[in-house]
Amino acid sequence: MAVVPRLFLVCVSLLGCVCTKLFAKLAPLHRPLPLKTPGDWVSEHPEPAQSFWQYVQAGPVRPSATRRVIYVLPLGDFSVEQRAAVESAQLFLAAFYQLPVKALPAVAASEIPGEARRKNPATGQPQLHTSWVLDTLLPPRRPTDAVALIAFTPEDLYPDPAWNFVFGQASLTERVGVWSVNRFGDPAKEKPLFVTRTLKVAGHEMGHMFGLRHCTAHSCVMNGSNSLPESDSQPLELCPVCLRKLQWNVGFDVSARFRGLRDFHKVSGLEGERGFIEQSLKALEN
Ligand SMILES: [Zn+2]
Ligand SMILES: [Zn+2]
Repeated sequence: MAVVPRLFLVCVSLLGCVCTKLFAKLAPLHRPLPLKTPGDWVSEHPEPAQSFWQYVQAGPVRPSATRRVIYVLPLGDFSVEQRAAVESAQLFLAAFYQLPVKALPAVAASEIPGEARRKNPATGQPQLHTSWVLDTLLPPRRPTDAVALIAFTPEDLYPDPAWNFVFGQASLTERVGVWSVNRFGDPAKEKPLFVTRTLKVAGHEMGHMFGLRHCTAHSCVMNGSNSLPESDSQPLELCPVCLRKLQWNVGFDVSARFRGLRDFHKVSGLEGERGFIEQSLKALEN
């Protein structure tokens, strides 16, 4: 067992006392995790809950004074609509995590080497190997003030020859990740759905980067999902349990974060999400 300094435990306990009341005010707004149904994530991947204390003691990746920028690198050849969704995701990440977000110069599809590609053996679909992105492309491009560097790509991804595909993958030790928008539908025909899916993967996967495990407490953006329909049924916001972990990690003002998200949703035309954040702000004031 790791030795934890006594002072650290005292500090965490005092912090927890204050925060418990704050986050309890939000709990009535959140639904419990839906009951298991065959084929959903919880049925096929039973996972233990991660308490706040387990999260703190796990020592997750955290921003610091000199390392607090989330960098986004566009990888591949995007359509106009795909590019707009990725730019929207950058604004969303800034509001969601209350951290600066900056874009790095894009890497074109023509710069991806042949050995990083394959045709899916079952479908023939062209795919990009995540290992090349995580091990070769991103680490040398990660700026010194980066808490994380994320590549967004319209390419379909595979993590291993035995796998069919993957939506995204990350390396916590290198603090780099790659997320694909390839399977999020046609952004020209279904723009709000495509944008929401892109925001959801950004919020969820960056949460993993900061050590949040899949949420089993509530219906939450950190729920695991086995399919797009399952993911579509989940909210875009953190539940109070996950929000408490993230607030401890980043140290933001919870009301300021809600105001940032409210403004983002308003500009983006996401009325349902804006309304929910307004309710959260009101709950904090009571
Ligand atoms: Zn996940
Ligand atoms: Zn949660």
